[in-house]
This record gives sequence, C-alpha cells and structure tokens, in this order.
Amino acid sequence: MKNLTNIGVVKEILEKHGFNFSKGLGQNFLINPDVCPKIAEMGNANSEYGIIEIGTGFGTLTAELAKRAKKVVAVEIDSRLLPILDETLEEFDNIKIINKDVMKCDLHSLIKEEFEGMKVAVCANLPYYITSPIIMMMLENNLPIDSITVMVQKEAAQRLCAKVGTRESGAITVGVNYHGSVKKLFDVSRGSFMPAPNVDSAVIRIDINNDKKLPAETEKLFFEIVKCGFSQRRKTLVNSLTKQMNLDKEIVLSSLNDNNIKHTVRIEELSMDLLKNLAVSIKNKL
Ligand code: SAM
Repeated sequence: MKNLTNIGVVKEILEKHGFNFSKGLGQNFLINPDVCPKIAEMGNANSEYGIIEIGTGFGTLTAELAKRAKKVVAVEIDSRLLPILDETLEEFDNIKIINKDVMKCDLHSLIKEEFEGMKVAVCANLPYYITSPIIMMMLENNLPIDSITVMVQKEAAQRLCAKVGTRESGAITVGVNYHGSVKKLFDVSRGSFMPAPNVDSAVIRIDINNDKKLPAETEKLFFEIVKCGFSQRRKTLVNSLTKQMNLDKEIVLSSLNDNNIKHTVRIEELSMDLLKNLAVSIKNKL
C-alpha cells in the first residue's frame, strides 16, 4: 500500500492525476502519520463497527479505518478523487465510496443498506467550511450511531466542548450536549496537513445518548429558542423570544418565573436543565 503521509508519494499522485487542492471544498489532507491511526482507534473503528467517513481526500484516514473496522462507507463530493482512490485503496475490499454531497445523503437509508448487524460510528477530518452544519445534520436526524469522532478547527472544538451556560458556549454546544456528551481528544498542528491551513485543529468525540430527550413538539420549540437566543446572544432572552419568535411576553416572563430565572437573563447564562425546563414551561402555556 502507498504511504499516503509521505510528501513524495502525495506529490507523485498530484502530478500523475493533475490534481489541485480545492480551497472551496476545504481540502487540507492529513500528512502526519500519527494522526489517522489515532482517529481510527479513538473513533470506534473495530471489528464490530461499520464506519461512515465524510470526505476521503486521497484516502489516508479511509485506509486506517478500513484496517480496523468491519466496513467503511465514505461519502466524498469531489469526483476528481475517484480515480485516485481506485489506486490508493486498491487493496481493501471493505470500502465503499459514495460520490455525493453528504448534506444531500439519506444517511438513514445508507446505514440500513450498508451496515446490517453492525454498530455504526462516524469518523472524519471534516471540511472546515461546513463543520457545524454536518454535525448538526447528523445529530438532528437522530441517526442510529454511537459516536461522531471528527477533526475540526481548534476554535470550533473550543465552542463544541464548552460548558453549556458559559460565554464560550453557542447553539452548537447546546445541540451536541442535548444529543450526547462531547470531549476533546487531542490537538493537531497546522503542519500536519497539506496544504497547511492558517489555523490549528483538534479531534473531538461526541458520544450519542438519546435517553434524555424532550417530547418531539417540545424539542422543536427548545431548538427554536436556542437558535433564536444565540442569534442575538447579547440581548436578553425575553427580548429575543418576544421580538424574533413573536412569543407572548407574559408567557415568557411567567415561564422564567416558574424556573426561578431572572428576567434579564441572556441565553448563554442558562444551563442545559434550565433551557429544557424553560422550553417545557413555555410549551405548556402555548
Ligand atoms: N479525509 C481526508 C484527509 O484527512 O486527508 C480529507 C479531509 S479534507 C479536510 C475534507 C474532504 O471532504 C475533502 O476530500 C473534500 O473534497 C470533502 N468534502 C468537502 N465538502 C464535502 C461535502 N459536502 N460532502 C462530502 N465530502 C465533502
């Protein structure tokens, strides 16, 4: 198998296929030999698991996943990579590449068709331009997966791993903590990529836990409140909910009272439990 973390080999592939990196598609490929095995090992790639990878690049992480997992299904948007992957992943018979935008994939059907009898996890070095939408899409779709282990920009990792109820948190922090628990696994320097991006990265893992979810209608309201609150995070929550979501002021104020929350509260001050309780109170009064 080709050593895809060897710069000489990478340059040879680039030249042979006339490939040039697309900045717009977030193409920064891993060339640090230590990183992909670590992502695979810490991301549940083992014989019990089917792994969904998003964005193959030249297949560096794909190969490490395929060495360990039962099966890998990798979704890659850039068709120019397909002939390269035919060569670099030639020796594996447990990899399927789907040439598609992951945001347009029916991942429920994919899991059903490709991973019967297997546990499923997601592992990826995510394209940075679309990190949060991909993570939220996977969480909101309630996919039958155990974990999401992904490389993201360091700032995104800080936001994702912040504590809900602090200034560092955001709508995505609430989203991941609603659907599971998240932790940072390790940092990755910008020099680990080709071409090198302007920022460092980190690998995080979200362990999915769907036990503490709200009933569907309340969940919908909960996420509307979260999105509205964080889109105007410096405003008081009462202001955003009444002006932007058109919720009745009396309902919002009495729901805050029910939960002993001050009327001047901003969304970033509320813990997960208080946010959920507030959504329940408001829902009960609508
Ligand atoms: N896994 C490779 C690695 O670590 O070297 C490549 C990672 S690179 C940061 C992101 C990859 O995602 C690129 O191959 C890019 O073409 C692909 N990509 C970008 N947008 C995508 C999308 N919407 N759906 C699927 N793949 C996408």
